[in-house]
Amino acid sequence: MKSIIEQFRILNDVDLKLRTLRKDLERLPKELAVKEEEPKLLVDQIERRKAEVSKLQEQIEEKDEELKVGGAAMKRYSSQMSVLRTPKEFESVRRSIDAQKRVNQQIEAQTLELMQLVENLQKEMGEIQTRLDQLNAALAAERKVVEAQVAEWKAEESKLAQQRAGMTKDLPAKELGVYDRIVISRGDAISRVTGSVCSACYMGLPPQVHNMAILAKELVLCPSCGRILTVE
Ligand SMILES: [Zn+2]
Repeated sequence: MKSIIEQFRILNDVDLKLRTLRKDLERLPKELAVKEEEPKLLVDQIERRKAEVSKLQEQIEEKDEELKVGGAAMKRYSSQMSVLRTPKEFESVRRSIDAQKRVNQQIEAQTLELMQLVENLQKEMGEIQTRLDQLNAALAAERKVVEAQVAEWKAEESKLAQQRAGMTKDLPAKELGVYDRIVISRGDAISRVTGSVCSACYMGLPPQVHNMAILAKELVLCPSCGRILTVE
């Protein structure tokens, strides 16, 4: 049984490598997927600003229409000026002209304000787009690195899996069943006894268990952590 336990110890090394590899294979694409979300947020930010700009542009068009109406009113008043008869009429039209002038100036000021808002938004969109381009370039490079790394790890994984299959086919089925259960639940299935202590869980072993582990006539498990005990 001693040599079988030694084979389990070697098998355990392979299994630990496989476990780490499989964890990495799961982790790396997930990390990349999280990073891939960032450009989507920037695209959203640009889209929201685009929608705002088109709303503002509609408002600017409305202001242009108002200004056209205001301009037409001014023309009407000036033509009235040339046919006025009394000073009272003259005064009334003059007041209307002043009032309309103020209205037109107000519309122009509002238009300028709206145009300024559009300009600010467009500047922001340009900055976000620059960030987005940089991010996409960095991500494309990272994607390549991740793909290469995943391919390398997958090749390593299948090599180890093959190695594992070769090692397990000669091991006794009952003991292999015990070992497999421990590997699945604990990861590390083997624990060395140092002194009379299990090196995995630091539990002091009862003398009988310690002796059985030394004799190694069968698989001896740590009463505390359940791992297979080996003694050098
Ligand atoms: Zn233990």
